Amino acid sequence: MDKLQSLPKVGPQTISKLNKLGICDPTDLLYHFPNRYIDFSHYTDISKLETDTNVTITGKIISFQNIFTRHRKNLQKAVVGDPTGRLNLIWFNQSYLAQTLKIGQTFSFAGTVSVYKNIKTIISPIFGQYNTGKIIAVYPETVGLKSGWFRQTISINLKSLLLNITDPFSPATLKKYHLLSLTTALTQVHQPTNSHLLELARIRLGLNEILTLQIRSYLKKQSWESKTPKTILVDSPKINTFIKKLPYKLTASQIQCWAEIKTDLLSSKPTNRLLQGDVGSGKTVIAILACLLAHYNKVSSLMIVPTEILAKQHYQTLTGLLKLPIILLTAKSKLSKFRPGSIIIATHAAIYQKKFLEDHIGLLIIDEQHKFGVAQRTFLTDSLHPPHCLTMTATPIPRTISLTVLGNLDLSTIDTLPLGRLSIKTFLVPPVKYADCYHWLSQKISKTSQQAFIVCPFIEPSETLTSVKSAKVLFEHLKTAVFPNLKLGLIHGKTPINDRQKILAKFADNQINILVTTPIIEVGIDFPNATTIIIQSADRFGLAQLHQLRGRVGRGSDQSYCYLFSESDSDKATKRLQMLTRTHNGQKIAEYDLLARGPGEAFSFIQHGFPSLKIASFSDFKLIALGQQIIKDLSASKFNLKKLIKDNSANLSATN
Ligand code: ADP
Ligand code: MG
Repeated sequence: MDKLQSLPKVGPQTISKLNKLGICDPTDLLYHFPNRYIDFSHYTDISKLETDTNVTITGKIISFQNIFTRHRKNLQKAVVGDPTGRLNLIWFNQSYLAQTLKIGQTFSFAGTVSVYKNIKTIISPIFGQYNTGKIIAVYPETVGLKSGWFRQTISINLKSLLLNITDPFSPATLKKYHLLSLTTALTQVHQPTNSHLLELARIRLGLNEILTLQIRSYLKKQSWESKTPKTILVDSPKINTFIKKLPYKLTASQIQCWAEIKTDLLSSKPTNRLLQGDVGSGKTVIAILACLLAHYNKVSSLMIVPTEILAKQHYQTLTGLLKLPIILLTAKSKLSKFRPGSIIIATHAAIYQKKFLEDHIGLLIIDEQHKFGVAQRTFLTDSLHPPHCLTMTATPIPRTISLTVLGNLDLSTIDTLPLGRLSIKTFLVPPVKYADCYHWLSQKISKTSQQAFIVCPFIEPSETLTSVKSAKVLFEHLKTAVFPNLKLGLIHGKTPINDRQKILAKFADNQINILVTTPIIEVGIDFPNATTIIIQSADRFGLAQLHQLRGRVGRGSDQSYCYLFSESDSDKATKRLQMLTRTHNGQKIAEYDLLARGPGEAFSFIQHGFPSLKIASFSDFKLIALGQQIIKDLSASKFNLKKLIKDNSANLSATN
């Protein structure tokens, strides 16, 4: 059976409805999973019915009436009886029921017991063999195709539909991991015998989804590893000399991450590693060490950053620390200074000399990875063919996501901040307290000469988001009405790059007290004298982004402060923001965002069309760990993992 037409009683109209739900062949129907279940397995005597319980009752139809109401609607009222009592049943606008529910005949009805006009009643009960006396599945529906249709159609065709299914796992594998067979799991997910078997079915089918993602990553990894890297063969004692000369001591975490990266670079396999670490955790210096090791091996490095501001800042940092010529590649500059072993810093926009870079770059570093579009990143990693690739991000990624969609990357994490950093005191500020907060800030700046950021989400006033202050309007207001005695600067996404540089230079020089900006400052800027950040409309940001914005302060030894101005008084928004006031651990914040907003919204920057799981969840660490284990075991036994994906592909909706 490979066509929907071959299903009995399924015509062209039904097929077009099914297509709307993404069901294009009979197997898709099997993978159209219920989104919930109702337990109607309890047969109950009418006299023992309790309100608000889900039950099935069996009784004779005693009366049936079609009643017309004032608003041209009609309702159907039946009385059923069993030896213990009578019960009212009510439906709306289903006059055709009269033909089925004949007086004197016996039926089973399932529904939730309620009280209607002081009488125990079931409103809109369902009946028939597919709907009563069992746990029933409730499906995602579309106009004209309700759950009842799916229950009936799937029941009738289940046996023949299952003939299309082959379980890629051997019985021995199923036994080893205590898994249901695929056919049992598919049967149970539609027609659960009991909640225990349903749970096992969900584990098996969820595992299929997770494995599909994990195997894709695994295959990506294998294909990456089949490349030949430019050789970085020798460790250099000069690296340790450099580390000793740094103005600070590396943290234990930094040392550990560097060891991992160095091992990669010195091995014969191409590096593909993600270096994760909160803002301010000191990722740059690790990148510098990698560039340095490449340099001593006459291998050139290219460090790509998302903004020109950051490119210049890195250029200065590197030139300051390394006594080597660093090339800042801009849209205008030429690569004439290039020699094997050069270190180049550029934005994505400057990568027009693709061929040249492709031939000469041995180490590609992508800083602030999350700031690049997925397409840009794919361009960088796929078309530049970097043999060694180190990606850095300050967005903490939940471990469960790393282990599935990012499984092709090795992971290093800097999980401690440099010693002596105070955690940033964070407060949620309701509108009535805005003025107090501004007053406090103005006093603080006068007393200490420390500086501040005020961040607002958008540049132009937007009609759809009228409550959101535009940076320009806000800037004028703050300058004239709130801080008339202080110097304020404004930077937004449309500020020309040269003006931007000038304003930042003035800010670095403390000629500007408060910098009003859009979130462009999110990207790795280092101003240790800035100790306060006020984030307007904080409720419009994701937690991970807020956490990164907050990381713009707290870079020096003074106590720093973060004020979250929120215009929303919804419980959910407040709870989310309160979480940030209590927590400074980026990893925990990411896990929370994953739960609160789901992977698509919170982590869409990781890839296009973030895979939407139908059954499994990205928060299910146990299942994800099981997937890892299975891949490890199966690949060791030379099992063809590709076969697993093929068989499972029907199981995933959004894939890429
Ligand atoms: P990020 O991880 O956000 O890119 P940076 O690399 O910009 O962080 O580092 C933030 C600041 O911390 C920089 O000023 C850097 O010089 C400093 N830094 C890095 N490592 C250490 C360390 N081990 N001890 C003290 N300061 C450090
Ligand atoms: Mg950085």
